Amino acid sequence: MIGHPRRSCDNRSPGGSTKYDCFHLVLMVTHDCNLRCDYCYTGAKSPRSMSLELGQRSIERAVKSVHPGGTLELGFFGGEPLLEAGLIAELIDYAQSQADAAEVMLRPGLTTNGTVRSMAAWDVMMRPELDLCVSCDGLPNVHDRHRRAADGRGSAERVLGTIRRLLEIDRDFLGMMVIRPDTVPHLPASIDWLRGQGVLRIDLTLDVWAVWESGDVEHLEEALIAVADIWREGLPDGAINWFDEKAAHLARLPMNRSARCGFGDGEIAVAPSGNLYPCERLIGEDQPGHPMRLPGHALDGSDFCRSSMPGRSDPACSPCAIASHCNTTCRCNNYVRTGDITRPDALLCLLERVCCRETARVLGELSPTNEQMVSMEESV
Ligand code: SF4
Ligand code: SF4
Repeated sequence: MIGHPRRSCDNRSPGGSTKYDCFHLVLMVTHDCNLRCDYCYTGAKSPRSMSLELGQRSIERAVKSVHPGGTLELGFFGGEPLLEAGLIAELIDYAQSQADAAEVMLRPGLTTNGTVRSMAAWDVMMRPELDLCVSCDGLPNVHDRHRRAADGRGSAERVLGTIRRLLEIDRDFLGMMVIRPDTVPHLPASIDWLRGQGVLRIDLTLDVWAVWESGDVEHLEEALIAVADIWREGLPDGAINWFDEKAAHLARLPMNRSARCGFGDGEIAVAPSGNLYPCERLIGEDQPGHPMRLPGHALDGSDFCRSSMPGRSDPACSPCAIASHCNTTCRCNNYVRTGDITRPDALLCLLERVCCRETARVLGELSPTNEQMVSMEESV
């Protein structure tokens, strides 16, 4: 499972209030999955699912954490969340009624592996208010390297069937692609292929759990240069998250979506047990003694208002020309790479630098008189 993309959420209210303008609640509805992707970071699969009551209490607390007029982003995570499609439908309805009563806007979303096609799953996928993402790692032979069922069969054919059906019925969705050391050389071809299928909006996610050797990092930089060109060719209809976010930052535009995280402060993930985490990607098997588990339980307390955790504080970042555009404020990625939420590693740093440089290059090519972009490209 891949964490659902965040929209922008500069979430603390002004004036010292402990409530938020925007709160991101993620419910891990099950530890189970019908696939066994070899890079999965959610641990062993088991039929441990969230109870309706636990989901409802978590939603009540989240709604109470938001100011009237604010937004509750409600994500569903797994395992494969659509294995619990009936539960998700009930929780969206419940969240909508709670949000309406509190004058809070609700924005539900989920990422599916695209292989669960029960009636209940389609009912959820077709809900117009739901932001839908479908995981697809690109070219079928690339996708099938890692995204396989328990019997070893690849899932590409089934995912493509879902994608085609969604496109036929004009259901808007995002394609979510995981990039690994062995798949990165195929990244430009995979994006081209997915766009050729009709998926114009693509979110890229780096497998931060993987070991990236220096040769892999070189391949990543080469691939990103080519992907930036694909991004340019696809504008304005196409979207690729890493470059869209940098472009919005460089142009100082308000962002529609962002990977910037709350990490316990405006963002809470709830495991099926009711245990709380700062990010859904850290829940794993929710084992006793998990070092990143937050104090408390979803059933204890009336809201999720919290004090903040430390942000990025790597001294190497202070003099950096692109520090304000850099997404290594994602404490989850930092934790996975270095064991320290405040400190990114060389891989994350390179990803930010290359995306920033290539975005500035493309924007400079589109607007050759824009000296700011030229100097940004040169400074990175
Ligand atoms: S679809 Fe793959 S990555 Fe997602 S939860 Fe299942 S096994 Fe893990
Ligand atoms: S690009 Fe690298 S040095 Fe600059 S702020 Fe980001 S992580 Fe720090």
